[in-house]
Amino acid sequence: METRILIVDDDTDIRDLMCKYLEMMGYKTFGAASAEDSLDLLKENKIHVVITDILMSGMNGLELTDFIKKDYDIDVIVMTGYSGDFSYEEAISKGASDFVFKPIRFEELHLRLKRVLRERQLKKERDQMLDRLQKLAITDGLTQLYNSRHFYNRLEMEISRSIRYGNDLSLLLMDIDLFKKYNDEHGHLEGDKVLVKIGNIIQSCLRQMDSAYRYGGEEFTIILPETKAEDAYTVAQRIRKTIENQKFIPDGKDPVTITISIGITEYCPKEDAASLVQRSDKAMYISKQKGRNSISFLLPQDRK
Ligand code: GH3
Ligand code: MG
Ligand code: MG
Repeated sequence: METRILIVDDDTDIRDLMCKYLEMMGYKTFGAASAEDSLDLLKENKIHVVITDILMSGMNGLELTDFIKKDYDIDVIVMTGYSGDFSYEEAISKGASDFVFKPIRFEELHLRLKRVLRERQLKKERDQMLDRLQKLAITDGLTQLYNSRHFYNRLEMEISRSIRYGNDLSLLLMDIDLFKKYNDEHGHLEGDKVLVKIGNIIQSCLRQMDSAYRYGGEEFTIILPETKAEDAYTVAQRIRKTIENQKFIPDGKDPVTITISIGITEYCPKEDAASLVQRSDKAMYISKQKGRNSISFLLPQDRK
């Protein structure tokens, strides 16, 4: 995308000259005769760098810098005469990226602008890398669901919200039925494909506020904030049925039916995360005992 520069100066000749020069250097430029006008322009246009005069009638360039740095991700270069009215330190402390003296030497301005843009690009790449790393740290590599580390963090968070606001909180724990047999018959790789597909199905059955996790090898959990166990059951039933009706075709062989067992429980005030997870695990185990491909509740004893 083209780099967009906004020049703010109440001297029309200087402003036009700077715009012309920077257009020649390949930038898209905008001009504003006052700080106030420039704020209107910023609202309507995506600008990357603002080059502003300091001494202007109305809002001055340092006040403008302050405004811009609060609301936008924009670099600011300030221009000033040699009068000594404003210092380099003042400009930088407002968040300006650089400082140039008037009369402007265009080659110098261009060099400084290029340096500011280069740093901006580096920062962008660093931020993107950080985002990717943060996402990796909480994602299960195989299913792309959240991982178990994130599960515990999120569960703690939802528990404290439930305590604070008195909201309901339900937890689903799911385990694939007889998965060892599937692996033994069709191989571990085919087993992995099943995990991916089941991860996708779980994700597609979630409501907006629910979040799904690969809790262990072939075990999944869903945190359902502001949800009673009865409503969690609707979600569980949707997932159980969708998986039961899905054809799994291992390596071009005949289609195989796969089922899951689900345990549901609700958070009980004062208990900790471990006890909640343990109860959902017990509920899931009841489903296994019932013959698998089923859903069981295990509710806290003092539940109304
Ligand atoms: P149950 O219905 O009682 O849950 O039977 P099961 O065979 O699913 O239970 P068990 O806990 O004995 O075995 C779980 C199996 O899941 C063991 C392992 O082969 C398989 N498994 C666990 N993690 C992975 C994985 O990441 N990839 C694959 N392909 N298989 C896995
Ligand atoms: Mg298991
Ligand atoms: Mg299993």
